[in-house]
Amino acid sequence: MNASGYIGRFAPSPTGQLHMGSLLAAVASWCDARHHGGEWRVRMEDLDPPREVKGASQDILATLEAFGLLWDGPVVWQSRRLTRYQDALSDLRRRSRVYPCSCTRRELAGHLVYPGHCRTGLPVGKEGRLVRFKMESGDVTWQDLILGQLSMDPLSLGDFPVLRADGFWAYQLAVVVDDMAQGITHVIRGADLLDSTPRQIQLWNALQSASNLDLASTAMPRFGHVPILENERGQKLSKQTRAKPVNAEKASEQILQVLSCLNQDTGDGELLARVREKAPVQVLKRAAELWRRIDVPSQSIESHG
Ligand code: GLU
Ligand code: ZN
Repeated sequence: MNASGYIGRFAPSPTGQLHMGSLLAAVASWCDARHHGGEWRVRMEDLDPPREVKGASQDILATLEAFGLLWDGPVVWQSRRLTRYQDALSDLRRRSRVYPCSCTRRELAGHLVYPGHCRTGLPVGKEGRLVRFKMESGDVTWQDLILGQLSMDPLSLGDFPVLRADGFWAYQLAVVVDDMAQGITHVIRGADLLDSTPRQIQLWNALQSASNLDLASTAMPRFGHVPILENERGQKLSKQTRAKPVNAEKASEQILQVLSCLNQDTGDGELLARVREKAPVQVLKRAAELWRRIDVPSQSIESHG
């Protein structure tokens, strides 16, 4: 543990190359960690083989290095931690916080939120296909490091899968188990994951007294959500919307571009003026010194090549 007690992380899924949206999340969490004298870990969320793109994890790591986003300690690979997720599930079962669900996609068509068909038991003659976590009622509230106090009603989210029908572990469970195991204190990530936070807070609370897990954390991480970047058509930058990968040859400029999307001070133009001459590590170092947590709305970003 470092003197600051701060441990942050970046947790990409290897479903494609880093684009400006993922770079923004990486730069924000890196700067926040470094500004506070903390550590910054990288965790590869490779739990979804059907969506995984061959070579993407190595590509992401090489890109982070090229951008000067250097991490502490070894990269954690979720695909090597499956028994941990199994242990967590066993614990949730003992506490009756999960239940089997037989519902197919077709049966749930038209429902935005899981209607709870299997909450009190499987319908007669049906078999469980997946496992869901039981959300407790009562608003989930947290003090977001960037957006301020937020509150969400679990009824608007519904019970969610922790083990999927295709047999793979769901993102929500793995994230919480790993954030706990790694002793993560600060989660700075994109606002597209805002809906996940109340789910993860409830999972965290449910798992915190689990005795069969080797958990480093004793406190819930703090959460901070940075804006989502959109393309000219107002769509979130993502693989689905064909966001272009970042360009390592323009690393310093692109870091500066995401910093300005984050409304960061660029040192009276100091970074701006000399960015072309500067290596990305130098730009980042200065950005971390000047870093401040501020709320900025989602915004559109020019396409770049
Ligand atoms: N792996 C998730 C993603 O790439 C992010 C997880 C997180 O930051 O909590 O969308
Ligand atoms: Zn069901």
